[in-house]
Amino acid sequence: MMEDKKTPVREAYYGLPHDVKFCSKCVMSNQRPASAIEFKHTKDSKKTTLNFDSDNVCDACRNGDVKDSIQWDKREEELIKLLDKYRRNDGYYDCIVSGSGGKDSAFQAHVLKYKYGMNPLTVTWPPILYTDYGYENWKNWIEIGGFDNISFKQNGKAMKLLTKLSIENLFHPFQTFILGQKNLAPKIAAKYKIPLIFYGENEAEYGNPIADNSTSLRDKSYFTYNNLDEVYLGGVSIRELTEKYELRLNELMCFLPASASELAETNIDVHYLGYYLKWIPQEVYYYAVENTGFKARPFRTQGTYSKYNSIDDKIDDLHYYTTHVKFGIGRASYDASQEIRNKHLTREDGVALVKKFDGEFPDRYFNEIMEYLDINPDFFRNELSDKHRSPHLWGKNDRGEWQLRHTVSGNGLDD
Ligand SMILES: [Zn+2]
Repeated sequence: MMEDKKTPVREAYYGLPHDVKFCSKCVMSNQRPASAIEFKHTKDSKKTTLNFDSDNVCDACRNGDVKDSIQWDKREEELIKLLDKYRRNDGYYDCIVSGSGGKDSAFQAHVLKYKYGMNPLTVTWPPILYTDYGYENWKNWIEIGGFDNISFKQNGKAMKLLTKLSIENLFHPFQTFILGQKNLAPKIAAKYKIPLIFYGENEAEYGNPIADNSTSLRDKSYFTYNNLDEVYLGGVSIRELTEKYELRLNELMCFLPASASELAETNIDVHYLGYYLKWIPQEVYYYAVENTGFKARPFRTQGTYSKYNSIDDKIDDLHYYTTHVKFGIGRASYDASQEIRNKHLTREDGVALVKKFDGEFPDRYFNEIMEYLDINPDFFRNELSDKHRSPHLWGKNDRGEWQLRHTVSGNGLDD
């Protein structure tokens, strides 16, 4: 009998594609999940992933090409038309900008107020664990930028338990932050009767189907729900959270989206400013430094090479560590892919940066986070991490260490 030299078909977790491919333009792999509805996320959820075309180019890069051909002056006219419809001169707020005071929200609130004459109310869902820089940037945004702000300090007990469950069940440290960040602004908008909300960029630009980018409006399925029985937090149903974990429904509501009926009454529109204005992270960063006193951290963020992206939350670095474990995609892959698309990096440079920084263990805040969540650090680094390594992505090398089977630089275990 002929020896079978074919690689065995290994199980792929989370519904990821079996064959790992890398985009020929950026450094992203086809394992990157598209954004999903966070409050439906369970252990068994299957991901939809980034689409690659027959030339091996990812949708995010194709979208970058589309962006190059957009007539931005026409888009700005559309924006002005929209703002003219909502702008108020009676002293009341006319729009909401949701954000943490990072570079993106700082830029948005500032241009809307000072360039386009709007009267924004800023709304903040604070990080799980503020970094000093994050807190300072939030404060400067409000004080130097000159904005009213509603910052919603969460019930610490519920926040802690849900974050812990999302890590233990989904290996997803960032879920409570994402939930609040998406859901708070529409609820405040309904309460204060401010029908126009701005977010920065469409997540779709980085991996959702291209069609999602042809509209400035956020799909309502992301921030509304119809039936409480279909809602999960930390991968646990609402019923189980109230019965087994003894959380009251009242303690869970701030993590949940507004109900569809609540929003229907107020007719809220959620727009991406990134649809109307050309969004280049580096330029947005300089703008925020100039106008709202935004400061980058003087040190590099672990797991990547950058200093100014998402630096508000201590748990952020850990989030990207888990994406490296689950999908084989670390923070340098995300950062470099975006910069290649914006032509600030060549693909070759990107490959080198990924090789150097992806998957670096974020130990700066690690012990503090584990202590806050009451998780054993060794349990996190070993059992919990290993349980989430999909066999089609990871194997052990001769030294008994975990190694990716495929990498963008071609030095994986099976490359
Ligand atoms: Zn690409």
